[in-house]
Amino acid sequence: MTWGIIATWEMALEGVKHASYMLEKGLSAADSMEEAIKMVEDNPLYTSVGYGGLPNEKCEVELDAAFMDGNTLSVGAICGIKDFKNPISVARKLNEERFNIFLVGIGAEEYAQEKGFERKNMLTEESKKAWEKRVAEMKDKNLSPYDGHDTVGMVCIDKNENLVTGTSTSGLFMKRKGRVGDSPIPGSGFYADSEIGGATATGLGEDIMKGCMSYEVVRLMKEGLHPQKAAEKVVHEFSEKLEKRRGKAGAISIACMNKNGEWGVGTNVEFTFVVATDKERPKVYIANRDGNKTAFQEA
Ligand code: ASP
Repeated sequence: MTWGIIATWEMALEGVKHASYMLEKGLSAADSMEEAIKMVEDNPLYTSVGYGGLPNEKCEVELDAAFMDGNTLSVGAICGIKDFKNPISVARKLNEERFNIFLVGIGAEEYAQEKGFERKNMLTEESKKAWEKRVAEMKDKNLSPYDGHDTVGMVCIDKNENLVTGTSTSGLFMKRKGRVGDSPIPGSGFYADSEIGGATATGLGEDIMKGCMSYEVVRLMKEGLHPQKAAEKVVHEFSEKLEKRRGKAGAISIACMNKNGEWGVGTNVEFTFVVATDKERPKVYIANRDGNKTAFQEA
């Protein structure tokens, strides 16, 4: 039986290693992926996810996360949540609900509180300093406030053919209070269908959500495309469309895996990702745009 996990960005490496032990032992994709994402959320060195995440314009860490179960197509998502330790776990809990599966801000916090999730001040001294530095740079050097953001997104399949996807992010650095990107939005930041495969996106949420890009990749895998072909087709065709219609396309990267554990990525910028399957040990790759294809190699 096969298992596999693919994750956006090098920061996912320790989490993917841990998940791969769990998957090898026969534990579920949902538990393995949740643990992997929690490891990224808990590490303050990863400044775009969870504890120590990048603050918004008001110097508050507002977090977005989502979880999707590819068997039942259940989704749980939260956005703009403050001061809870593991947003991915709150999102996973919500995917068990029939109604009210997507909660924002105070509503998400009340739910997390009621379900007993651990509270934590997610603003570290370092993220506060990064915010102060950016405020100064914006004044002195006219630097874009929004540079600096990354989402940890994962697709994971276990030995019993259960497939899940999840995302967690602090979104754009210096975002407007209340701003939400693609990461918690089903079909944009993630999608999972155990009969086909799953996909997850990272990059400029404002552009990713214009193309419902994770759903598109899963749809193309359903039509029989290899994950690599599906991901690069969606990313490059949509980037071109944005360039043609709007004059520019933001950074867009997608990682995906089908139900057989075959995987692929598409990106229009430099992008690192991590993969482990029953056939390959956890590895970090670096990908880049190569014309209308995506090339990658081991990092
Ligand atoms: N997609 C995320 C957002 O727009 C950020 C990222 O993945 O870089 O919130």
